[in-house]
Amino acid sequence: MHSSLAQAREEYADDHGGRNASYIPALAQVSSNLFGIAAVSCNGDIVEVGDAEVPFAIESISKVFSLAYVIDQIGHRELLSKIGANPTGEPFNSVMAVELHHGKPLNPLVNAGAMATVSLIPGKTPDDIWNTIISNLEAFAGHSLSVDEEIYHSESETNQHNRGIAWLLKSYGYFYNDPDMIVDLYTRMCSVKITARDLAVMGACFCNGGVNPVTGKRVVKDTNVPPVLAEMCMSGLYDSTGTWMYEAGVPGKSGVGGGLLACAPGKLALASYSPPLDVAGNSVRGQKALNRIITEHGLNLFLS
Ligand code: GLU
Repeated sequence: MHSSLAQAREEYADDHGGRNASYIPALAQVSSNLFGIAAVSCNGDIVEVGDAEVPFAIESISKVFSLAYVIDQIGHRELLSKIGANPTGEPFNSVMAVELHHGKPLNPLVNAGAMATVSLIPGKTPDDIWNTIISNLEAFAGHSLSVDEEIYHSESETNQHNRGIAWLLKSYGYFYNDPDMIVDLYTRMCSVKITARDLAVMGACFCNGGVNPVTGKRVVKDTNVPPVLAEMCMSGLYDSTGTWMYEAGVPGKSGVGGGLLACAPGKLALASYSPPLDVAGNSVRGQKALNRIITEHGLNLFLS
């Protein structure tokens, strides 16, 4: 596996396609040359190459883990009725998608549905809810995590669009706590720092039936793993998820910080970090490198 990761990194290291996310100003400042890949198997073996221990903002990938927490709390039927499960066909931060579907966010991996999902996390105070969010991410990563304060402040100053979406959902009855407080917690959640190595461990929990293969601790009920992976298959790479599924054939999730996760259930998780993104918001090098590794190892779920 190590040589496969190293070859994928070497093949695409000089691919300068895409651009860092710039709508969050601090993300535009990150070096575009950073490129790391990690793999974690269901028995906890870890392989990594390149910048796999450089921290980056988890961003949208955090949505998968808050979804896992909330499904465990309320069950997948309740999640379907309160959030939904279907692709929007629109960009990740679309207001139109909400308006087109009578105010329902449609799925938990676009910003609207992800913020509504965070609004379902129980807690009397913002600190209670935050402690749940960060403890949940830490259980998946297997160690303590912290917020990138610069990215958090940069995103807080520019997240008016997300605040608008949260209030719109509230007006339609699809937001389950105070919009301003939840958007702030969601923004902090997106600013949590992880590495490609962490992300591969976090994804391996899903590949391993909900048990972290490194710590041995259960982080999500086994019956709730398939719905989470199904969401990733439908909306994990925003409005280009279909293309990803067509080529890679495994559940994936990207973030505008440059992270990308791919899960091969029962086998291993792959994660990459490379900041330049395509127009849909997915890491350019990450998609190419993970696709290459997935193809080389025959991990596509639809192969017989
Ligand atoms: N925090 C980002 C936002 O809400 C996450 C988006 C992403 O990574 O796709 O816009």
